[in-house]
Amino acid sequence: MAPRRARIAFSDSAAKQLEQITSRQLTGLRQVLDCPATATTLRQGPAAAPGEPPDWLVLLCPAHSEALPGWPGAAADTDGLRLSCGSVLDYRSAEQLLQSHADLWLTPLTGVDPKTHAGDWPDVLDQADRVLRARLGEDASDGDETLHSLAMMLGMASRNAADGDLYQATVPLAYCETLAQRL
Ligand SMILES: [Zn+2]
Repeated sequence: MAPRRARIAFSDSAAKQLEQITSRQLTGLRQVLDCPATATTLRQGPAAAPGEPPDWLVLLCPAHSEALPGWPGAAADTDGLRLSCGSVLDYRSAEQLLQSHADLWLTPLTGVDPKTHAGDWPDVLDQADRVLRARLGEDASDGDETLHSLAMMLGMASRNAADGDLYQATVPLAYCETLAQRL
């Protein structure tokens, strides 16, 4: 039997789906699992409105096809995409990306809840940055290199937001999100 290869002939619906995916403007690239396997399943997030394409896509390998309860959505074929497991293609606005980061790891990690900051994202990120720095400073023996690395990138996100560029802030936050899986 010939080795398994990427399929090059797509069905009409898969071709249409791939075109829909590749023609849309990505706003975020995230890696939410530490898994080197090639994804075989595509999970589609909810649409902003009926008839609209999904807000995000997560690619998953067979072992992780049921993983990530924080990313609920419908499964579909990955025809035409070859990305590693845990890759997220995000199409949401900067504010929606920031809210997603808060919900999935930033608030659980730092205790800073955007709801108590009236959606003031520069303030949220500044507070979260202070919490992590205080935590690292409290315990001089704290040798957690992952937390140090995460704090460094969160500081960058906080400065981006303070400069008024919320979209740019989501880039280091995506790195923080990947690191947060290792804590
Ligand atoms: Zn996997």
